[in-house]
Amino acid sequence: MDKQQEFVLRTLEERDIRFVRLWFTDVLGYLKSVAVAPAELEQAFDEGIGFDGSAIEGFARVYESDMIAKPDPGTFQILPWRAEAPGTARMFCDILMPDGSPSYADPRYVLKRILAKTSDLGFTFYTHPEIEFFLLKDKPVDGTRPVPADSSGYFDHTPQNVGMDFRRQAITMLESMGISVEFSHHEGAPGQQEIDLRYADALSTADNIMTFRLVMKQVALEQGVQATFMPKPFSEYPGSGMHTHLSLFEGDRNAFYESGAEYQLSKVGRSFIAGLLRHAAETSAVTNQWVNSYKRIWGGSKRTAGAGGEAPSYICWGHNNRSALIRVPMYKPGKTGSTRVEVRSIDSGANPYLTYAVLLAAGLKGIEEGYELPAGADDDVWALSDSERRAMGIEPLPQNLGEAIELMERSELVAETLGEHVFDFFLRNKKQEWEEYRSEVTAFELRKMLPVL
Ligand code: GLU
Ligand code: MG
Ligand code: MG
Repeated sequence: MDKQQEFVLRTLEERDIRFVRLWFTDVLGYLKSVAVAPAELEQAFDEGIGFDGSAIEGFARVYESDMIAKPDPGTFQILPWRAEAPGTARMFCDILMPDGSPSYADPRYVLKRILAKTSDLGFTFYTHPEIEFFLLKDKPVDGTRPVPADSSGYFDHTPQNVGMDFRRQAITMLESMGISVEFSHHEGAPGQQEIDLRYADALSTADNIMTFRLVMKQVALEQGVQATFMPKPFSEYPGSGMHTHLSLFEGDRNAFYESGAEYQLSKVGRSFIAGLLRHAAETSAVTNQWVNSYKRIWGGSKRTAGAGGEAPSYICWGHNNRSALIRVPMYKPGKTGSTRVEVRSIDSGANPYLTYAVLLAAGLKGIEEGYELPAGADDDVWALSDSERRAMGIEPLPQNLGEAIELMERSELVAETLGEHVFDFFLRNKKQEWEEYRSEVTAFELRKMLPVL
């Protein structure tokens, strides 16, 4: 038994923890949990705990439904809302096949695989997410319009603001679980919040995002509101993005940084961005995986000017251009480690493991193939005409899930990164979502057409 495992077993006894939840994530990004008694843990560390994978989205074909969850002791944390004795703790798990090999259906393994390749190339991949979400008044009722929990706006600080108390409690809870928060504020729309996590290696970030979503929902319940990570719950307000800052390090050195270069951006950094751009359309089904995701990235601030509705819809990069898909934030003199790229397409409904895996794969491809970075866009690309954008070589992101699926289906990069099983399952599931959506008569049609036709 290793030191981490010993620590877990000791803590269970000292803190009177009677329930241990083993967490993992399905292909669509939903958190799954199976509780075990502490007495079972020693065996769980050795062999894992068996469960029926056929009931989990994307996990197994029925004939190979026996799966094994093996807890990662490095992720042990006591759940703060169940901390009083007898308490409850959690660990993230790796999912194994019955023969003990890693399950090709496990999103955590998809990310681990590309991280291993990254480390073979001599790099460590860091991520820093800015997570936006809404607080709503009531439990969502089938198909009715939600009501935001407050009426504040960007950076508002008012005593009757539900968000303020909420953020204080939520951040305290995250910190007690070892998740550091850098910034938090009220976002542009009523009820909309943003909490930014401190940068960490991508696997920890993805685990942290899964924890984050549960903690937000938990704190919201305690405060009599509901938290939602749906990308675009309101037509007239901005959606919820999960912009993520990415960087590669070689040892202690930021591989994106080069003193004196334009934007202090090294060749590695430039090729990485070029990779993200060239593969942006085909990775879109993963970074923006829901029918609803495309309601957020449809056309920038045209309708939501001043409200921070700044979601990208065109494939370009810029320095301080919030209409760009990729932004290279201002370099901070004296902070050579701070050079990074911000990907602004990702939304809060994404599966973080798969999302970071495909983005990393795209960036690495750029480095390996030595892609040239196209010229940056300094203009507000939403304000340009289609022909101006075409003249500049700026393509749109897919306009809906159907288009995104078609592009993904032809993508070698995505197929290779997700692996055949996840790739096929994902496509099948998303096609079904798209079909269902396409065949539904919407409130829009009834409102516009019924009175006149
Ligand atoms: N809510 C915007 C989005 O959907 C982002 C606003 C911001 O720049 O933080 O991406
Ligand atoms: Mg924001
Ligand atoms: Mg941002």
